[in-house]
Amino acid sequence: MTIDDAPRDALRGGPRELLRWVATGAAVSRADLSRLSGLSPSTVSQRVEALISQGLLEETGAGRSRGGRRPRQLAVPTGGAVVGAIDLGAHHARLGTLDLSGRVVQARTLPVRIEDGPEAVLGALLTEVAALAPNDPAAPPAGATARALRGIGIGIPGPVQHATGRIVSPSRMPGWNGFDVAAFCAGRVDVPVIVDNDANLMALGAHRTAHPELDHAVYIKAGTGIGSGVISSGRLHRGAQGSAGDISHCRVAADPAPPCTCGNSGCLEAVASGAALVTALREQGVPVDDLTGVIRLIDDGDRQATALARQAGRAVGEILAVVVNFFNPQVVAIGGRLADCEPLLASMRATLYERCLPLATQSLLIERVAAGQDVGITGAAHLVIDHVVTAS
Ligand SMILES: [Zn+2]
Repeated sequence: MTIDDAPRDALRGGPRELLRWVATGAAVSRADLSRLSGLSPSTVSQRVEALISQGLLEETGAGRSRGGRRPRQLAVPTGGAVVGAIDLGAHHARLGTLDLSGRVVQARTLPVRIEDGPEAVLGALLTEVAALAPNDPAAPPAGATARALRGIGIGIPGPVQHATGRIVSPSRMPGWNGFDVAAFCAGRVDVPVIVDNDANLMALGAHRTAHPELDHAVYIKAGTGIGSGVISSGRLHRGAQGSAGDISHCRVAADPAPPCTCGNSGCLEAVASGAALVTALREQGVPVDDLTGVIRLIDDGDRQATALARQAGRAVGEILAVVVNFFNPQVVAIGGRLADCEPLLASMRATLYERCLPLATQSLLIERVAAGQDVGITGAAHLVIDHVVTAS
């Protein structure tokens, strides 16, 4: 074992990992868990019993016999506990319930007006999630089994101080600065609520879905805003205050350097975010309503929109090259609504290769986040599942 492997190795066989092995089908019995973890059968049994008593695992029927008594089979309960998840965007929120293996049970998209303020927006979304997963067995929804809500994970499209659940200086979220999301939610629901920024949740969801075996990964979320989430040694890396991965105000080469909402100019967000592309096109006299309009113009091969997308891709690549040289990830993936924009992706990739050390890029995977519109709620759910399992 190298020193670099230590943090992950220390978690080996922890309750969280045992649950994940069962959830992914890697293990169906205590013997499997013992083999995978290297732990003694009695230690595994102890941990499995604790997970069963928490309702996080169950024993179902009997597994395949290898000659002796047929072993009991372990499974993640499918008809019981769920976690709620909310992935808040500038104009829409994706919300849903997921089972304890991170599979989506129900999900829907609702329009939101972020400018209505945190109480109105979050209050309505919490009510929706609670309605999807009533924890009152006396009042199940028609045709559904009552499901116990174990916690709610919320992604916010702005900087979040993870330890406190407070929002700090968000762009384009008037009335939200300093708002204590965790305290607000604690007054409304009686389950743990965990808050993080949307890029971190996308990173966690994409990593757990596509590359749980890779230890070092960077995920860029490019939508109306722009941000990133970092997986280091298999875990979400938040840094001291929770701002790790926030690349939105890193300066890029741009002439002229457009002004940014933070008061500086030439920030990545002011050059390469969806909001920046809308602004730049309007300044060039192109009538465009929103990011959807920009993407449509790019798909139609509009010259001005395509040129701006290429410039945005170079800017993202420039920052990403610094990140890759510094951090040496195994995979860099881009998600968010601009991830499907081919000219942006092509120039990002070209800049990244041009500016990176060959050693850093020779086996680097560069790809799109493949998990679709539920990647944020999947990440939010894993955040809660990890918390619930760790606390058990
Ligand atoms: Zn800025």
